[in-house]
Amino acid sequence: MMNIVLMGPPGAGKGTQAEVMARKLFVPHISTGDIFRANIKAGTELGQLANQYISKGDLVPDEVTMGMIKDRLSEDDCKDGFILDGLPRTIVQADALAAILAEQGKKLDKVVNIDVPTDKLIERLSGRRVCRNCAQTYHLVNNPPTEPGRCDECGGELYQRADDAVETIQNRLDVYQAQSAPLIEYYAAKGLLLSINGDQSINNVLVEVGNGLGLNW
Ligand code: ADP
Ligand code: ADP
Ligand code: ZN
Repeated sequence: MMNIVLMGPPGAGKGTQAEVMARKLFVPHISTGDIFRANIKAGTELGQLANQYISKGDLVPDEVTMGMIKDRLSEDDCKDGFILDGLPRTIVQADALAAILAEQGKKLDKVVNIDVPTDKLIERLSGRRVCRNCAQTYHLVNNPPTEPGRCDECGGELYQRADDAVETIQNRLDVYQAQSAPLIEYYAAKGLLLSINGDQSINNVLVEVGNGLGLNW
């Protein structure tokens, strides 16, 4: 049983690591950003509401986000664990998450925080490309697909997220500092925090996470 939260600023590598970790641990990778983007693409009411915030690089309101994640965590595939990527992003969300899990007789086992210096974040975000079809993430320089513009996994078309435009990146980093960074202390005080140096290769980050979790992968 592994109930894990992955935290870190935008572009730290949460999605990249979560994808591999979920496969190794046989648990679902739950990305709030991916769920919002799927809703935006499908044109749902939730998607239309969320997009008003996401397009500016602001956080979607806590009540909306927590309602969505409560439903997701109630699904059957979460019963033996999950990797939560991108939530909580506020202290209010962290308290609400603890309450949802307590109702289900669960708790978090570890909060993995991926730390990366700001100049690297900007470089990672501006070179990020995502598959329109399966949401697999690439980087033009650091992690390019075999064929430019095409997803290795499914052949889907790669695109640049609108909120990865330079104008929006700075606001997202500011929002992170103001609203999400305090979660590091919050989880450290609960004895749940595992701090990882994210300023190294994708594979070395994965090894450090595995060692920190006591898993030999
Ligand atoms: P997050 O989910 O935290 O926003 P991503 O996993 O989407 O971050 O990674 C952001 C970008 O940086 C992507 O383009 C990804 O390919 C790239 N990236 C991820 N991890 C690393 C790393 N360790 N070194 C260099 N680039 C990375
Ligand atoms: P990144 O990979 O760059 O960290 P995500 O894909 O996780 O970004 O999230 C994209 C956007 O979705 C965020 O900028 C925010 O607007 C919204 N979002 C994602 N998770 C949350 C959350 N837990 N609370 C509020 N908004 C969220
Ligand atoms: Zn794909």
